[in-house]
Parts: sequence; C-alpha cells; structure tokens
Amino acid sequence: MSGLVPENRFETALRALRTGYLERLPEKLAEIVLLRQRIAADPGDDLLQMFQRATHTLAGSGATYGFAEISVTSRRIEHLIMALLSTDTDEPLPLADIDTAIAALRTAIEKIHHGDVGVAIIPVQSGDTPRDLHVAAGTTTVALSASLDDPPTALVRPVMLIDPSLNGDDLAMQLSYFGYQIYRADPAHAIGDQIRAHTPAAIISVISAATSSDVTVALTANRTAGGGLIPLVFISDDDTLTVRLNAVRAGGDAYFVRPLDAGQVVDTLDELTGQRAVMPFRVLIVEDDPLVSSLYTAILENAGMHAHVVNDPLQVMGPLDDFQPDLALVDLNMPGCTGIELASVIRQHTRYLSMPIVFLSGETDRELQLAAMLRGGDDFLEKKHDPHHVIASVRSRAERARDLRAQMVRDGLTGLLNHTAIENNLERELIRSQRTGSPLTMALLDIDHFKKVNDSHGHPMGDRVLKSLARLLQQRLRRSDIIGRYGGEEFAIILPDTDANTAYNVLDDVRMMFSQVRHQSEDSAFTVTLSGGLASSYTHHDAATITSAADVALYMAKRTGRHRLVLAGINDVAITNLPPPPPPIPVISDEPVAPRMIVRGNQASGVAHVLVVDDDNDISSLLANWLLAAGCRVDVVSSGEEVVNLLEVEVPDVVFLDVLMPGINGLQVLDLIRDAEYDTSVIINTAFSSELIAVDALRRGADDYLRKPFSQRDFETTIERTISRLQLRRQNAALRQQIDRQQSHLTTELRRAARVHADLRADVPPPMTGYQLAVHCTPGDLVGGDFYYWQQPVPGVLNIALGNVAERGMPGAMLMTMVRAVLRSTIRETAPQVNMRYTAEALTPELQRTDDLLTLLHAQLTVDNGVLRYVSAGHQGAVVLRAASAAMMALDTLADDALGGVLPHTETEYALDLKTGDALILFSNALYRHLPARAARDTLIAAICAQPDAADKLKLLQGILEQIGPQHDDSTILVIQRA
Ligand code: GH3
Ligand code: MG
Ligand code: MG
Ligand code: MG
Repeated sequence: MSGLVPENRFETALRALRTGYLERLPEKLAEIVLLRQRIAADPGDDLLQMFQRATHTLAGSGATYGFAEISVTSRRIEHLIMALLSTDTDEPLPLADIDTAIAALRTAIEKIHHGDVGVAIIPVQSGDTPRDLHVAAGTTTVALSASLDDPPTALVRPVMLIDPSLNGDDLAMQLSYFGYQIYRADPAHAIGDQIRAHTPAAIISVISAATSSDVTVALTANRTAGGGLIPLVFISDDDTLTVRLNAVRAGGDAYFVRPLDAGQVVDTLDELTGQRAVMPFRVLIVEDDPLVSSLYTAILENAGMHAHVVNDPLQVMGPLDDFQPDLALVDLNMPGCTGIELASVIRQHTRYLSMPIVFLSGETDRELQLAAMLRGGDDFLEKKHDPHHVIASVRSRAERARDLRAQMVRDGLTGLLNHTAIENNLERELIRSQRTGSPLTMALLDIDHFKKVNDSHGHPMGDRVLKSLARLLQQRLRRSDIIGRYGGEEFAIILPDTDANTAYNVLDDVRMMFSQVRHQSEDSAFTVTLSGGLASSYTHHDAATITSAADVALYMAKRTGRHRLVLAGINDVAITNLPPPPPPIPVISDEPVAPRMIVRGNQASGVAHVLVVDDDNDISSLLANWLLAAGCRVDVVSSGEEVVNLLEVEVPDVVFLDVLMPGINGLQVLDLIRDAEYDTSVIINTAFSSELIAVDALRRGADDYLRKPFSQRDFETTIERTISRLQLRRQNAALRQQIDRQQSHLTTELRRAARVHADLRADVPPPMTGYQLAVHCTPGDLVGGDFYYWQQPVPGVLNIALGNVAERGMPGAMLMTMVRAVLRSTIRETAPQVNMRYTAEALTPELQRTDDLLTLLHAQLTVDNGVLRYVSAGHQGAVVLRAASAAMMALDTLADDALGGVLPHTETEYALDLKTGDALILFSNALYRHLPARAARDTLIAAICAQPDAADKLKLLQGILEQIGPQHDDSTILVIQRA
C-alpha cells in the first residue's frame, strides 16, 4: 500500500490481528504433530476427538483470516479423523495419509511465512460511529452496564433563533427542557457567518408580512453545513397565505403559528435533526476460539456496532443479561456444548425468544447446520474472510429483529417500552442488581388531573402532553435508564445502579421541568404537573413488591396534594398506616360488599356512614349505589328538613349535600350543622358553574365540594379524602382530649401540693414578749423552694431559719419540705454553730445525691438581752436596722458556702445585739437582687426606719417587690424587731 493513502485504524488493527495469527501458526502446527504422535500410541476416542477439534479449529480460523490453504489442509486431516471416529471397526490408523496431510499443512504455513502468499487487507466500510479498537483476544470493548455518569440520552443541540422582535425567551426556555439550546442570531452580523461559526442543528426564524426578503434570501443562501441543508423552521404570528408562501419560498421545513406548543415544535425539530439517533447494534459473540472472536469483534466494531465476546459457552447467561444484545453470533462447534444446544438453552428464557441467533459454522458443520435448521431455522454465517458479508448479514438481521421487537415491546404513541416490556425489564434488572449488589430504583409517574386535560382540550391534546413527557424523560434520563408507558397516563421508570435518593433528585428535576412545559391548545396555554412514587431494591426485592411499593408511594403523592414525589420506605410506618389503595370498583350485586371506606372514631361499626341529601331521586340513588359499592352505610333524604330530623337521631360521618333544594337549602343546612357543632364532615355538591358557591361553602365550614357533573371516580375520591380527613380530625380531637385530661390532672395535683406547702409555711409565730415578728413568703410558682422556720426550743430562746433551695417549683418544694423536716430535729437550744453542723451532716448527703444547693441562715435570739447569734451557709440577704442611727448594716455572714456540693464552712458564729427599736431583716434572693443602689438606698432606709412596726416594715419591703413586677422567683422576707 502506498504511503499516500493513510491506513485507517481498522486496517491497522486488522493487520495486527493477522500478524498475531501468523505468529501463533507454528505453535498450532506443533500441537497437531504432537497429537499425531499420541494417537499412534493410544488411538482411543478421547485423543481422537481432541485431534479432530484442533484441526477443526484451525480450519475455521484459517478460513476466517483468509488463509484458504491452511483451512483446506487442516480440514483434510479433520476429515480423516472424523472417518475414524464414525466407524467402530478396529481398522489400523491411516497414519501415512495423516502424515501427508500434515506435511501439506506445514508447507502451507511455511509459504505464508516466506511471504509467498499475498495477504490483501480488505477495507471495510466505516460505520457511522467509528470507535477505537481494542482488539485483543477475548477482551470486551463495551462497558457492560452504563455507569452513573452516563450522559443523558441525547446531547444538547444548538438551535439558532432569528427573531428581530426579541420575544423568544420563553421559547428558548421551553426548548431547553428537551435538549435544544437556543441562541439568538446577532442582527448586526451577517447571518451566513454566524451559521458557519456555530453550525446549528436547526434554525428557527420568526417571519411576518414585514420580514424583509434580505433575511430569507440570506437564510436560503447560507443554510448548508457539512454538505447538507440545515433544517429551517418558521414561526409567525400570521397565519396568512402570503406569509406562509414566503416561508415555503424561503425553503422552510415547517411553519408554526404562535402561540407555540413546545411539544409540537420539539417533535418537528427531532424529526428534522434526526434527533432520534439509532443506538448502535449490540452483538454478542460466543466463540471458543479467541482468534476468531477478536477478528469478528474488530469487524463489527469498525462498522459501528458494539460487540461482546464470550469464549466459554457455558458462561453465556450473565453477559447475555448484562449486555442485552440485539443479536447473538454463536459458534456451532464448541467444546462443552454445541451452538444448537446453547441456542435451545437461551431460548428457554422467554425474554430471548425473539433474539436472532446466527450460527458461525465451518464448511464441515453441514450435519450440525441441518440439525439447526430442523430445530427452528436460525441463520448461518459461514466462516470465511469476508468482512462485508459479516457486517451485512449481522446488520440486516439485527435491524429486522429490532423492528420486530419494537413492535412487540414499544408503545405506539410515545415510543417508550410498553407495560409487558417494562415488567420484563424490571425482572431482569432486579436479578442483575442482586447479582452485582448495586441498588436499583423504580418509579411510577402519573400525570395529575389528566382527565381534565382531555376534557378541556381534547384527546389529541392529551396525547401530545403524554408525548412531551415521554420525550422529556428520554432527554433527561440516562441511556441506561429504562423508561416505559405503564398505562394510560402512567409511566414506569427503572433506574439501574441508582440509589433512591439520587433517583429522587433526578426525577424531581424532571417533575419540575415538566410542570414548566407550556402546552398550547387551540385557544389557551396550560401546564400540567405529575406525581410519582419511588421504591428502591434495597427495601423491596422482587418485581411485584417494588412495583406495589412504588404504587403506594404514588398514591401517597396523590393524596398529599399531587405535584410531588414520594419515596416508599422512607417512612414505612406512614405508608403501612395508610389505607390500602382502592381496589377496582366492585360491581353492584346482591352479595354483601366488604367495607372499604372505614372510619375509626365514634362509630361502633367502623364502616363509614354517609348521608346523601339531594332532591333529585335519580342522582341520590346512583350515589347511594356507588357508596354501597365502596362498602359504606348509606342514608338518603331529599330535603334539608329531613336532615335536621335525622341528625337528632344519629350523626352520620359524612353529609353529601346538594345546594339547591326546595325549603331549607344546602348552605343553610350546613350552617345548622356547624352551629350545632355536630361531629360530621360536609361535602357540598353544586351544579353552579361558578366557584363562588364553593368558596362560600368552604368558608361556612364545608369540608369539600364537588361540582356536577362528576364521575364515580371523582365522587369516590372526594368521599375517601373527606373520610380520611375526618379520621385525622377525630384522632386529633381524641388526642387533644387526652392532653387536656392529663393537664387538668396535673393542675389539680399541683394545687393540692400548693395547699400542703402553704400549710407547712403557715407557722404561727411563737408568742414573744418584747419583740415583733412579721413574715412574708410566696413561691414564684404554686409551690417553691423558699422557706423559713421558727421555733422556741426552750422558753426565752427563739430559733430562726431562712433558706432557699436552688430548684424552683415542684422539685424545689419537695427539697424544701425535706429541709424543714431535718431542721425540726437538728435546731435545738444548743449554739447555732452546733445546730448548723448537725444540719449539714444530715442534709449534705441528700443534697449531693440530688446535686442541689441550699443556702441557709440560722439565727438564735436570747429574748432577755437581745443577743442574736447566727451562722450562715451562703445566705446573703440579711441586714440589721439600728434605730439609734437610722442606719442599715449588712450582717457579717456573706463569705460562707451554701450547703450542698462541698461541705459547708459553717464554723463561724457571729453575734449582734438587738437594742430597743432595732430590727433584723432576713430576705431571700428576690429582694436581695433588687435592692436599690447606694444613693437610693439611703432614702429606702429612712423610709423603712420611719415605719414603727415590724409589720409596716415588711409591708414596705413587699411594696418594693411589687413595684418590680410579677416575680417568677420565690421570695421571703422576715422581720424581727425589738420593741
Ligand atoms: P390523578 O391526578 O388522580 O391521576 O387524576 P387523573 O385525572 O389524571 O386520573 P384518572 O386515572 O382519573 O384519569 C386518567 C385519564 O387519562 C383517563 C383517560 O381518559 C386518560 N387517558 C388514558 N390514556 C390516554 C391516552 O392515551 N391519551 C389520552 N389523551 N388520554 C388518556
Ligand atoms: Mg469452535
Ligand atoms: Mg393521573
Ligand atoms: Mg391514573
């Protein structure tokens, strides 16, 4: 080959394969010579079969690589051996003949090695998608299953928009959902240059009566790219013949009048740009000889097909499931099993019933060929070196099979897989997912209120909406995702190798985009939403379970408001708590119907009780039948008056109420029901086309409304929705009641505690001549942790204690009660220091156990001389008012620790004299924190001193607390004044 024409990659690969083959030939010859020697020693059948196989293989590969002489000479040896194998007489081996044939084979091989045989590389037409060739024996060149970062099925295609009016933004957005990227032509530059710079996949141009012919001329002149015409689509506000004619003259391929329907434009663009790209054919090669299989791989791949090789026929099922070939090329003669046997095995799996199996056969396989024909006539491809023939045979059969399959498995409207196909795919993918341990997610999508689309815009428009969703799914999902039309407006999607969250995110994008696609009917534009249920193979293992889980999730999505996705198993509890999805509506018969609409709550039977109120008997009896079919209990009345009477006897769960009736109308009945607070749901049903009545009814307390005419499905859905809301309401009410009961129980208990607490506090001051005692003690809550205590252990001695546990409320009260009980036994006529030590010993372990702190001041007054001795554990509020100097002094107590965490330093005992008119004031934190600062304090002191009695002083201090406002802390003030 001259150096002028560069060799293409395929030819290079082919050359490499041939060289490899030639290098292996001496080895093959040596193997045959060795076998010849071994059969001379042991002419048993086993060895003879090995010998036959070796020569057969060489005959096949020789033919395939185009070395006819090698093929012919090997086959001569094979025939000699076969003759031996087919006779059972003990004839001597025709060793001489065999040797002659081997010699001929050797000569043939040597001739090739000496270059005596010209080896022509037969060029093969390149396919549309040339691929890199990685051709080594037995290797695969195609990834078995697509990975997560697979690009979406279709690439983004640029589309040029020529729009002088600059209002195509929405069009750009709409088309972008379907993989077309619009960019605007710059009016300042020549259109031809822009087309050449961007090579758009299509051009969309706005045209009007005013469009200058310059533009159309420029378009016509510059539409070529890559030797073909770029598709040209006109859009216009004008539907006049003149403009249409201009568009045709300018060579437009399509013409749309605004407003546009995105789906239609996309359909046309798809068609014009050949967007529906053909997937490369997938061919599985089952061939025991790697040299042959790699050559076929090279040939097929070069023609743009995908090939996968299996060298061991017994391992075929896995690759078959993974690779999903359009066609299998199967060697007829393989060790372990013949191609025909293998084909039968494959055909046992119904999913491969229609896959063509083409046998690769050597010339000598005539008998096998015949057997194969008898078994059902698959095709044959003879092993010979003719790549064109291989490609043509495989392509035509694969094409035919694909067309056939498409008819069997594709849905006519959307081109997606049909119901059966998606189920087959699901089963296959689940098996694969279990084998690989990689999760799979299944989704069911259902268009919301699709019936309304059909009803308001016509069935053909509905079809267009379905197609646009199909197209969007194809655009947005990966090539490895399996998309099907599951039923009317329900789609099923299988996302292999995808966990539920990823699937959720991907499909939620699709959901959002779909809701933004604008559909254009004759007179209006509208959008449509969808709901979906997802289930993962992690939680649902077989096809039936995962499908029904997705279905239940879809049902949830519908029930919780539509336009959303719900993932099954995220909240299994919620899902299992749901009533099961409605079974098909039963036909009315005499047989009792199992109740489907169940209410839990105040009805003993549990079956929903519905009262139908309608003055039209035909309607009410139809509704009654529908309700009975759903297993409800039904009452029918024909006037508002009857409702009122009936309500006195029994309150139904749901009242289905007609608005227009003679006498009391529906809305008035509704008012009556709501005024009397009956526990029943009301659905208003009206023939008025205006929504105003509905709104009015809802305001007056209707639970739902239904507009006539309605279908059985609408009716049932509304009833069901109302019942489940009623149930929720009743559950809530029951819960509320329970909470209220608990609450009131607690309050009662707390009140009782408060009373006990108050009783404990209400110690009557001991009679004390020469002294006045006044005390005020209130808990911040009903009960609290502040306390005081006084006692006369012996005549002439007064013990006082004032303390505070850090806890408030009930826990504070409990601790305080304990402290008081302890004080009763530890505080005696002995010195305060001693008393305090006993107290600390008794309390500290308890306080440590509850991790609590107690501040406590204990004072002891000797009545005769007014000597007051005291010990403090962390208590801060204590002052003495000197009558003589009208001064207030803090007591020297403040350094000591509270009782609790550490053993208290309560060793220090202090003393002071209470002279006539002097007062000791003890108080807790509440007052201590709010004592005024220095300047104001003098005024306060003067004011206190001005109060003659202890009780007045106390009142004044209490006044300070009151001024501060409501206290959430306990507060105690205790005053002892020497008269
Ligand atoms: P929901 O939100 O509950 O799914 O309400 P819906 O109206 O979408 O559901 P329903 O199942 O009641 O109605 C589905 C409708 O879809 C009923 C049927 O006429 C319509 N439909 C089914 N297949 C096709 C089809 O191929 N083309 C058109 N145009 N309509 C279809
Ligand atoms: Mg073979
Ligand atoms: Mg629907
Ligand atoms: Mg539906």
